[in-house]
Amino acid sequence: MPAEVTPMMRQYQKMKELHPDCILFFRLGDFYEMFNDDAKKVSQELDLTLTTRDRNKPKDQRTPMCGVPYHSADAYIARLIAKGYKIAICEQMEDPAAAKGLVDRDIIRIVTPGTVISSTMLDEGRNNFLCALFGEEAGVGLAFCDLSTGELWTSSYAGAGLEEHLRNELGRFSPREALLSQVLWEDQGLRDFLEKKLECRCELGDEARFDAAGTWQTVERQFPDGLDCLPPGDERPVRAAGALLSYLYETQKTDLSHIATLRYAAGGQYMELDLTARRNLELTETLRSKEKKGSLLWVLDKTKTAMGRRLIRAWVERPLLSPAAITRRLGAVEALVRAPIAREELILCLREITDLERTIGRIVYGTAGGRDLAALAAGLGRLPDLRALLEDLDAPLLQSLREELDDLGELRALIGRAIVDEPPFSVREGGFIRAGYDPEVDRLRDIQANGKGMVAAIEAREKEKTGIKSLKVGYNKVFGYYIEVSKSYYDQVPQDYIRKQTLVNCERFITQELKDMEHTILTAQDQLTALEFDLFCDLRQRSAAKVGEIQRSAAAVAQLDVLVSFAAVAAERGYCRPEVDLSDHIDITEGFHPVVEKMLGGAPFVPNDAHLDRKENTVAIITGPNMAGKSTYMRQVALIVLMAQMGSFVPARSARIGIVDRVFTRIGASDDLSAGASTFMVEMTEVAELLKNATGRSLLILDEIGRGTSTYDGMAIARAVLEQCADKKRLGCKTLFATHYHELTVLEGQIPGVKNYNIAAKKRKDDIIFLRRIVRGGADQSYGIEVAKLAGVPDRVIRRAREILDELEGERALPELRRPPEEEQVSMGDLGSAQVAQRLRAVDVNTLTPIEAMNLLYELKQLV
Ligand code: ADP
Repeated sequence: MPAEVTPMMRQYQKMKELHPDCILFFRLGDFYEMFNDDAKKVSQELDLTLTTRDRNKPKDQRTPMCGVPYHSADAYIARLIAKGYKIAICEQMEDPAAAKGLVDRDIIRIVTPGTVISSTMLDEGRNNFLCALFGEEAGVGLAFCDLSTGELWTSSYAGAGLEEHLRNELGRFSPREALLSQVLWEDQGLRDFLEKKLECRCELGDEARFDAAGTWQTVERQFPDGLDCLPPGDERPVRAAGALLSYLYETQKTDLSHIATLRYAAGGQYMELDLTARRNLELTETLRSKEKKGSLLWVLDKTKTAMGRRLIRAWVERPLLSPAAITRRLGAVEALVRAPIAREELILCLREITDLERTIGRIVYGTAGGRDLAALAAGLGRLPDLRALLEDLDAPLLQSLREELDDLGELRALIGRAIVDEPPFSVREGGFIRAGYDPEVDRLRDIQANGKGMVAAIEAREKEKTGIKSLKVGYNKVFGYYIEVSKSYYDQVPQDYIRKQTLVNCERFITQELKDMEHTILTAQDQLTALEFDLFCDLRQRSAAKVGEIQRSAAAVAQLDVLVSFAAVAAERGYCRPEVDLSDHIDITEGFHPVVEKMLGGAPFVPNDAHLDRKENTVAIITGPNMAGKSTYMRQVALIVLMAQMGSFVPARSARIGIVDRVFTRIGASDDLSAGASTFMVEMTEVAELLKNATGRSLLILDEIGRGTSTYDGMAIARAVLEQCADKKRLGCKTLFATHYHELTVLEGQIPGVKNYNIAAKKRKDDIIFLRRIVRGGADQSYGIEVAKLAGVPDRVIRRAREILDELEGERALPELRRPPEEEQVSMGDLGSAQVAQRLRAVDVNTLTPIEAMNLLYELKQLV
């Protein structure tokens, strides 16, 4: 026999059917309850007790259930969101006490990882992006939105390198949740990238959501006068943005007018960095511990506002490509470096500015309270000071930011007059409207305050009238106000007293007058809370109407905060202003690694120069023992370039940076190892990617290419890659190439543009001394055994290693390298076979991958 279903459970099931992909939080009094599979899942994930409803039923018919108290639900929701779930919140839509029969309930919001808005669930220093990706044969449209701040970015990619661009853009925004159109949903590689590498929840958006006409309407409605930024004739960004907005409407069910500006990120504005480079260069977190401490962001971030903290992360992730835009930032930083007093004052002022961006988000969204309004006014209140401090700072960017700072004096004054200094958390219980703001609020408060006086007056009068000395007026929740008379005076109680309660030693009465007074006082209370709430809604609306101005001011504060932070770091650590232009040069004098230098905490960091161009100094082969500082040096050059293009001063005595379009890295072990790929395979995949995508303007950082395979293979690949990098006809891009294959140093002089460097070390007896200085020429020795000794390898093993090394060196294990196989230099006699010549002619060297080059070498070797 099927178990009978109560009306409430039927209501639950109906809601659940509407949102089968969500965990349903079903409000029941003071709890959110979950049932059935949801209950099982949540009890397991959050370690909550699983109970059952209907205990009187047989075990197999009971409904599993678990619940969380509603006032602490946020914390539980946050944990479920972090695990990638979506939560549908089903609220009671009427007061259960007043409801006749079943309480009306409805889904008020769906919380998903990409649409979190509660400040307790967000990291204030980081954006939280939802993205929608629309894909068709010809290209992809992207849209990213941070619901908490209201920013919405779109972009579009088509043609060559599409997949690469798409991944780089996703890596930069690192969204928490992605809505994919069908074609992209079927792209397992893309989904793996999102889900595994970026830990982003993916969802299939149905075709209707991405429909051309529908999305256009949606986007036009949301941005009635702001679509000019979109590229004409390309509907992909609109289809992505429209789908994203429709998903937001559906899940949030509230006003989203704080998403007020649509931005289009045109290609060519920002430097593209792939995930490998971002991670290897430790821009925002370290490779090993994934923490901010130890990253470039850790050094650069001295911002004081939450808005600045989010923006500096975005700037670090997104260096610029235009020398003009970079110079504008550098000009502002320089002005701030030169004005230490103004800078300190700006810092003090910024410190007090609240998160205007997320506050106005909550105000428009409807979850704001009195505290948010007070915070808004307080934050805006600091803007006039900021404006005044900027007045004398002579930099175009600072002046234009100054103009953007609108402190909305009227709104601020209004909130100041209306809201008390420390408003309570809830807006439903009154107590936050300031005295003097609204005459009716004052009148009702008077009545409340006078309630005590009225009670005292009635008490005194009744005492006198009746002659009962012990007569008292009291109050309790059940009977309201009453007159209490002790036993000994019962005979003096007047006729018009109505008996309500008899206790051991006394009796309690009411009178008509007392009831009237009670009515006045209690209704005043209800009226007051309702009125305060109305006034609050009015203020909220008036603030929401200024969303555009507030967002503009917030954006200006954020930029100012980042520029001040750059300046403070530059001043503290002695950075210099780089010269940024479109030349082919990277010239750094006495550069240092920003993070290692700071980590050394006062111990000396040895500065080093770098000179790269596309003529004589294209590829630097860097040799030197392990631990000498090769990898530090190469990263330092890359970081200095990136910092310069962010608009920051750089750790060097002087620097001239010709714009770099991309930085590629091939460094060390990769996190893909855990995904099952071999070290060598990962290394080669990265090499393949960078050779495919680098241009003459790129900077390549290659650390020990080819070390994951046998010596000959490795060296062959290393050399083939190096030749490709150096050859201007093929790539010819600035390359730092650290290697242990000392044999490669013969290439200086053979291939134009290749120069040898080494990081000097000295031997003192059996020990090694690192000089940390980069000098011209190849290293004379590897010092591997000395480093092994330094690391504590036992003496016996070290001694034996020396013996073996002596033997090997006697045999000269490795052959000399030949010149590169440029067509005109290939002599058939040298190679000894017409077959080889034929094979070589058939090869298109331009499209040869390193692995193919390696195979080819093998093949040729077989022929001679
Ligand atoms: P390699 O790549 O040659 O094995 P690393 O670049 O990893 O060496 O450097 C090893 C250590 O040497 C670094 O952790 C750093 O502490 C120190 N180091 C490197 N370069 C310098 C320098 N220029 N000045 C001072 N210390 C340095």
